[in-house]
Amino acid sequence: MQTKLLINGQLIAGEGPSLAVLNPSQGTALVEIAEASPAQVDAAVRAADAAFPAWSQTSPKDRATLLLKLADRIDAHAEELARLESQNCGKPFAAALNDELPAVADVFRFFAGASRCMSGSAAGEYLPGHTSMIRRDPVGVVASIAPWNYPLMMAAWKLGPALAAGNTVVLKPSEQTPLTALKLAEFIIEIFPAGVVNMVFGRGPSVGEPLTTHPKVRMVSLTGSVATGSRIIAGTADSVKRMHMELGGKAPVIIFDDADIDAAVEGIRTFGFYNAGQDCTAACRIYAQKGIYEKFVAKLGEAVGSIQTGLQDDPSTELGPLITAQHLERVEGFVQRASALPHITVVTGGKRVDGPGFFFQPTVLAGARQDDEIVRREVFGPVVSVTAFDSEEQVLEWANDSDYGLASSLWTADVGRAHRLSARLQYGCTWVNTHFMLVSEMPHGGVKHSGYGKDMSMYGLEDYTAIRHVMFKH
Ligand code: NAD
Repeated sequence: MQTKLLINGQLIAGEGPSLAVLNPSQGTALVEIAEASPAQVDAAVRAADAAFPAWSQTSPKDRATLLLKLADRIDAHAEELARLESQNCGKPFAAALNDELPAVADVFRFFAGASRCMSGSAAGEYLPGHTSMIRRDPVGVVASIAPWNYPLMMAAWKLGPALAAGNTVVLKPSEQTPLTALKLAEFIIEIFPAGVVNMVFGRGPSVGEPLTTHPKVRMVSLTGSVATGSRIIAGTADSVKRMHMELGGKAPVIIFDDADIDAAVEGIRTFGFYNAGQDCTAACRIYAQKGIYEKFVAKLGEAVGSIQTGLQDDPSTELGPLITAQHLERVEGFVQRASALPHITVVTGGKRVDGPGFFFQPTVLAGARQDDEIVRREVFGPVVSVTAFDSEEQVLEWANDSDYGLASSLWTADVGRAHRLSARLQYGCTWVNTHFMLVSEMPHGGVKHSGYGKDMSMYGLEDYTAIRHVMFKH
């Protein structure tokens, strides 16, 4: 197993303290990996800085060629990468192999093509005798910080646009789930010039902070919690770095009386519980209209109660464990506090699963009210709440009454209503009669505390560039 850092084209053992990397299905250590020391973080940034002038002047065609090679390498090693990902996250192997790995390769292929389509524009003659043009240039060294829920996919979302735009990168995967990113380092060494991509391993305070605050880092790209985002923004304020923040979510799922209830139930069974609900877009905050509320809750309880919890290699497993013992305790705390409320009914689940891993039962809590903690805070576990609503106006107000603004969905047969609501929902994404569907061509990212900046799409690529004006006197 690859456990080394990638600095200036070399795989190097960390010089900091060792951390255990766990398999959350068993709660046992898969491997111990040494963190980067402060000097190694500095060396990684300096390598990226030294590689920037040459890399930023490569042609889009040449960058695209290398990104396509990386995608091919990922395809060729898909099983091995999916195995590592499923062991390190506890997620079903089949989901890692069939859903995540193809999406990871596709992101690199998309950005390979996108780099060749990006252009500045010849803006014209605004001052007589002067012609203006717009350039889009890379920003410089990007510090990319990834979370643990989709480790390799998040690495791809960070590396793809940054490299395609001509930046150099120091990537810090999550200390809980570094294994697939570190494996990727082996391919990167063979494909990219030294220093273009560097990887450091370690925790936020000891490795993330020296990285994001490094004076030679020009941009920080984080996918993580709101608390971490705020901390990074505050910590880097003096050096005025560009920020790209993909933070938490609490997706409202609005189901109207006229919706196809079976489709909505199936959608929530799948997308409220995918990755054990550890997803920033998870279909977790459900509002069901009064006419169908009782029937909907009964059907949802039955469907969610049938979700198979188990080990990652068992083909029948649909739901894996939570990522750590601390996170299990956190999710359990949310459910215990919610179920102690007199108006809340535990329709199914509600308890941790006995055993060595960090499993929690798939859970439906009905009767939740808008001010309940379970409706307002991000649980990040296999837990959904259901609240009854009367009217379009009421549910719109409740759906928007959130600090978060990442993703939302509405389920209805009324096209006019779908247009009306999607125009007024304050979310980076609104799905109609589906949930969770992401494609490389379309932007992903939030508003409000969910952050700013877009992943994927041409917008994502543009986020990693600086717009510049060049004016010519005739
Ligand atoms: P986290 O914020 O705890 O950690 C994310 C990363 O930040 C990790 O690599 C961590 O080591 C690093 N970090 C922590 N403190 C830091 C600091 N002070 N300086 C620099 N780096 C630091 O988040 P997590 O628990 O790994 O992931 C779950 C969170 O991520 C959830 O809130 C979820 O909603 C969010 N998320 C958002 C998206 C999105 O696209 N918006 C996608 C996935 C996850």
